[in-house]
Formats: sequence, structure tokens, C-alpha cells
Amino acid sequence: MADPDPFAVSLRGSTRVAAVIGSPVGHSRSPLLANAAFQAAGLDWALVAFEVRPGDGAQAVAAMRALSLGGLMVTMPHKVDVIASLDRLTPVATALGAVNSIAWEGTELVGDNTDGAGLVASLRSDSGVDPASLRCVVLGAGGAARSVVWALADAGAADVAVLNRTRGKAEVAAALAGGVGRVGLSGDLAGADLIINATSIGMGADIGDSGPLPLDPALLGPGQVVVDLVYSPRHTPLLRAAADRGATPVDGLGMLVHQAALSIQRWTGVTADLAVMARAARD
Ligand code: NAP
Repeated sequence: MADPDPFAVSLRGSTRVAAVIGSPVGHSRSPLLANAAFQAAGLDWALVAFEVRPGDGAQAVAAMRALSLGGLMVTMPHKVDVIASLDRLTPVATALGAVNSIAWEGTELVGDNTDGAGLVASLRSDSGVDPASLRCVVLGAGGAARSVVWALADAGAADVAVLNRTRGKAEVAAALAGGVGRVGLSGDLAGADLIINATSIGMGADIGDSGPLPLDPALLGPGQVVVDLVYSPRHTPLLRAAADRGATPVDGLGMLVHQAALSIQRWTGVTADLAVMARAARD
């Protein structure tokens, strides 16, 4: 059977509307992913994107209450400024001080952060890689890196070394992994089992481009898994370099799909069809 067409959303008076807010938000793949999942599950739901100006995150949360939106995905630059308007945060959102998903629990709005859990779920189910007991290196210390550091420690990683251009931010990120977190050195790369690029290096690089890279590819080799959170382009210079060196490349689309699926499951109580969502994300 053909996949549902995420553009063929049928809106009725009963349709539950969810939204993604951000600025800019026009490039967001969340509507494609979510609407494909809603249709595949036969849910009378639809997700739309709202451009919300920087500083207006609190008003968007107020609108969610007023309009009874079914759920809210939150992207830059609102991941922090929505927090003051919520009733509660999950432990991970509290630890990270950043929210990417808002759900109703009764009459309360609860902020969550599904990015890191989305990566771990994707590694386990799409790549057969369980971070438990692995030596991990995370490149970068921004919002995505911090969620990944927290989730790797939560998943039982043996060591989470954070490498970042700005050392102070690496220290903050590494602390999120508790006893297994530390600021790393480039020398840690050769001994790592799992390397995750959570910097924005490689974003928008042309297909066929040989650079830029967030690390020295000579430090990569067989037996390593190299994940690039950058998903546009899908085949980044880092992933090509990793494959050339015999490491296993993993692109960022899996994380994108799984973090959205976790939100959808929380909002609707229905298990999202990951394969349908992945195909929608690739289109
Ligand atoms: P962010 O908060 O702005 O952090 C960017 C990070 O990249 C910082 O650590 C920054 O270092 C580093 N960086 C940027 N330019 C650099 C350069 N030229 N040299 C060295 N380091 C550099 O961004 P973010 O929200 O964490 O997102 C990071 C990447 O992850 C983006 O490409 C984003 O698209 C991707 N992402 C993917 C998913 C997914 O589902 N696959 C989810 C979220 C994010 P400094 O601290 O020194 O500035």
C-alpha cells in the first residue's frame, strides 16, 4: 500500500490541531513527519507550523492553552523562553533547561526534551547500537549536544567526552553526564566506540563537497560508529570521511524521526509508524 500523502490532510471540525513553533520555521520537516504519522495511524489530527517571533514563546504557550492545541513542538529560538509559561518539566527538560515538546497532562502543560532520547532510540532500533558501556565522544556543546550527552549517560555509556571550540560550554555539557562525563581532547577520538557530531559544521555543505569536517578523519577507523546530527545534507562530508576510513556512518534523520515520534506518542497515546515517518522525512 502506498504511504499516506502528508499534504492530503483532511481537516474537520473535530480535527485536533498540533503545531511546531520556531523562527525561522519554514524549513521544518515536523509537519511532514507528524502528518504522515497521523494519517498512517488513522488519527484525526493535523500539525501546522507557526512562525513565532523571538521573545514571543510565552504567548505561543498561552495560545496553546486558549486554542486547546493537542501538542506543541518547539524549535529555535524558543526552547528556553517557553519554560516560564509551563506548569511542569520532565526531569530531562529540567536538567537541560530546554524544551522541544509540550504535552497536556490533565489540565497541565508539561515541557519535555525528546532530542537525546530520540537519538538513543534511533541508534538502538535503526542501527543496532546500544550506547550502554560504550566510550563516546560528543563534538559540540550547544542545545543538541547537551541533550545527547544527557541521554548517553542515561543509557549507561561508560564514558562521555565532550569536545567543543568553547571550553566553558564543554564543561557545562560534560557535567550533564554526571560521573561518566568529562571534557575531552582530540586524542580521545581514536579510542572512541561512538562519535557524535553535534556541531553545526557540515550543515548545508554541497553534496560532493570534501569539507569542512569537525574532526581529523585520520583518527577514525573500523569498529567505530560515527553519527552526524546534521541531516541537511543527509550524506555529510563527515559521514563520507567516516565510511572511507571503515567506520560505520549514521545520518541525523533517525534522530529527527524518533524525537518527533516520542512527541506524537505522548500527545496521542498511539505508537507512531517510524517507517512511514522516515520515508516522509527523506522526501
Ligand atoms: P547550537 O546550540 O547553535 O550549537 C552549535 C555548536 O556547534 C556549538 O557547540 C558550537 O561551538 C559549534 N560550532 C558551530 N560552528 C563551529 C565551527 N565553525 N567550529 C567549531 N565548532 C562550531 O546548535 P544546536 O541546536 O545544538 O544544533 C547543532 C547541530 O545539530 C545543527 O546542525 C542542527 O541542525 C543539528 N540537530 C539535529 C537534530 C536531529 O534531529 N538530527 C536535532 C537537533 C539539532 P561553540 O560553543 O564554540 O560556539
